Amino acid sequence: MNIEPQITETPNEATAPAAVMPIPGPSDPMVLPRKAASPRADGKRALIGLSREELRAALATVGVPARQVNMRASQVWHWLYHRGVTEVSAMANIAKDMRALLDQHFIVGRPEVVTAQVSSDGTRKWLLRFDDGEEAECVFIPDAWRGTLCVSSQVGCTLNCRFCYTGTMKLVRNLTVAEIVGQVMLARDALGEWPGGTNSLPALPDTDDDDDEDRPYIPGAHNPGNNYTAQGRMLTNIVMMGMGEPLYNFDNVRDALQIVMDGDGLGLSKRRITLSTSGVVPMMARAGTEIGVNLAVSLHAVTKEIRDEIVPINKKYGIEQLLRACADYPGANNARRITFEYVMLKDKNDSDEDAHELVRLIRRYKLPAKVNLIPFNPWPGSTYECSSGGRIAAFSDIIFKAGISAPVRTPRGRDIMAACGQLKSASEKISRAELDKRAEEKEAGWV
Ligand code: SAH
Ligand code: SF4
Repeated sequence: MNIEPQITETPNEATAPAAVMPIPGPSDPMVLPRKAASPRADGKRALIGLSREELRAALATVGVPARQVNMRASQVWHWLYHRGVTEVSAMANIAKDMRALLDQHFIVGRPEVVTAQVSSDGTRKWLLRFDDGEEAECVFIPDAWRGTLCVSSQVGCTLNCRFCYTGTMKLVRNLTVAEIVGQVMLARDALGEWPGGTNSLPALPDTDDDDDEDRPYIPGAHNPGNNYTAQGRMLTNIVMMGMGEPLYNFDNVRDALQIVMDGDGLGLSKRRITLSTSGVVPMMARAGTEIGVNLAVSLHAVTKEIRDEIVPINKKYGIEQLLRACADYPGANNARRITFEYVMLKDKNDSDEDAHELVRLIRRYKLPAKVNLIPFNPWPGSTYECSSGGRIAAFSDIIFKAGISAPVRTPRGRDIMAACGQLKSASEKISRAELDKRAEEKEAGWV
């Protein structure tokens, strides 16, 4: 059959239909969460989570005179992120009438702590409740030389990985920028790391070129407001590895991490932040260019059959596509390697052949990679078993012998259900119908 090339006229703007149906494709991968965050009942807005520009605009909107806006915004930013105040009224160098104006329209914003638990190994877990009653968990893992905060990006997760407790939650919504930044603020509150707190030490210089190593303290050295160092502070690193898929909440995660990295505020280096994705391929390049943090990828299997089963997003974005996106990840190099997370599931993904195939894939795509082997953490009703210690050691050995680092992660906080994949908030126990009923009652003013 002879197919004539079709000459189509490009409609000019005046004649083009006003709304063109978007073609679904890799640029539009978002799985819609099943719920949106609702505004506060009192109409006040949280200051935490606003970008500098948003903060300036918000101040102008409530009547801060134009010539004062920049100065007031800097003052507020300082009180929020240097001093860690939790009330507008505590912003002492802001004139009283101005503070009253701000107080009328804003709250500082912290999630409510429903429960705070401490594991026998020192790991801490907070169950947080947000303004609309939804809950998420946040975990702090102290080590000898660093302290890592595991931050959630969503209430629940839409992805249903078979070995993950969070994936079994029915109710899912994206966390707002304020709620993501709020987890970091809350952790610093709890760890006493604001000036005047129980663990407040003088700010120390930090450089941008390492992630684990301590830097010597240089007395009198210029410190550009970076309070996070492995020396002194407990909270030195952040991993976006709590509840949810961060790349399905891209804008809020990006904006939140930009606040966390802001040199005049929390000032955490991008090298101390790791974002973990189950493989939302179309968003990975943007994560590299717009956020620039370290990348971790939940690989967990090396064949289509097994990855389709345990990480269902694989049916949409397969292993080859995923590894190609890793090879293209902006900023990845031998000094900043991509971490492949691999949960060890007995007789599922833990054979010698799997380990060899993992090595082959990493080599084939020339990936600057390290592998983190995570012993499976069980949860109520989970169907998998963790591989034996001997199996995990043999698996790790094969990868190490190929010249790729493959440490086995020690499970932390298992006794308080704080380990990888064990997070699932208590609100899940309330049925959907009950939540709807409560919302109706609240609307009708019964509660
Ligand atoms: N949603 C993101 C962030 C995740 S959770 C992601 O999937 O990457 C951090 C890591 O814990 C992920 O690699 C996740 O796959 C893994 N994980 C989930 N459930 C687990 C479990 N029960 N035991 C061990 N690791 C688990
Ligand atoms: Fe979601 Fe990550 Fe759990 Fe998968 S492993 S269900 S992507 S939180």
